[in-house]
Amino acid sequence: YLKSIAKKAAKSVAPVKKASVLGAGIMGGGVAYQSSRKGVPIVMKDINDGALEIGLNEASKLLSQQVKRGRMDAAGMAKVLNGINPTLSYDELQGVDLVVEAVVENPKVKKMVLAETEKHIAADTILTSNTSTISITSLAEGLQRPENFCGMHFFNPVHKMPLVEVIRGEKSSDAAIARTVAYAAKMGKTPIVVNDCPGFLVNRILFPYFGGFQKLLSDGADFARIDKVMEKFGWPMGPAYLMDVVGMDTAHHADAVMAEGFPDRMSYDQKTALDAMFEAERFGQKNGKGFYAYE
Ligand code: NAD
Repeated sequence: YLKSIAKKAAKSVAPVKKASVLGAGIMGGGVAYQSSRKGVPIVMKDINDGALEIGLNEASKLLSQQVKRGRMDAAGMAKVLNGINPTLSYDELQGVDLVVEAVVENPKVKKMVLAETEKHIAADTILTSNTSTISITSLAEGLQRPENFCGMHFFNPVHKMPLVEVIRGEKSSDAAIARTVAYAAKMGKTPIVVNDCPGFLVNRILFPYFGGFQKLLSDGADFARIDKVMEKFGWPMGPAYLMDVVGMDTAHHADAVMAEGFPDRMSYDQKTALDAMFEAERFGQKNGKGFYAYE
């Protein structure tokens, strides 16, 4: 139902023909893959070559699986890969219709990146942020064109998860929201428009769940057993594995935003498992060690 509304709405706005994603990490790489796969070429910008390489390799791996399963031929795979233009330079952003910012979950870094991006894009280009938790209204402070800015929150892994939260900041225009909804629909996703607050909708549910999990750990429970129970309950994975997938650094930054936004409910008076993992640099799947060890 939501998808059909989004598709109808998409017909009334100018389509996004070329996009850009800032950051080639877990999320940026996924957004680049999904956009190009659905026919919208994308400029993928990062600050280091290694990250761009990882982003492209991930896309390449996903495409090879499609080829193996007979869902795509080699020419199709080459076309999708050619649709991802990796770069270290803001100059490549010229001519894009919409930008998805997907750099680290740090308000200062994001504000700096967004302000710099605005200098390199046309006056009518839509600027969005894939932030998990940071208020869109607060990220818009310091922008010259806050009306062109809104949230576009994908979930991990981007190619699998259907939902996209489109977040309306205090100054986001209807046109910016409509074009972002249309782009999400074009990417094969189900967009929902939500109001702005730390964590938006999904993470206001997910982070208290992580909090409950960590409280059980501090009471002495075993993380692997909790995961098994949640799997038996019917969820695709338990909280420990999910935190490994998200990335402990990202979860830790996001936790701090939630604690500041909801101090009475989301802040903890003692060190959490997440604090300990972050300090020990056990970032999860991205660096091969989190609650679990990975190859
Ligand atoms: P990540 O650590 O995998 O990737 C971040 C990337 O940003 C890195 O490649 C880094 O080099 C790059 N970067 C840092 N500063 C930059 C800059 N100034 N310009 C361009 N690139 C820069 O992180 P991630 O998990 O992909 O998270 C990115 C964003 O997406 C965060 O805001 C996060 O909260 C959000 N998010 C994450 C998840 C998740 O499950 N990991 C889910 C939804 C949303």
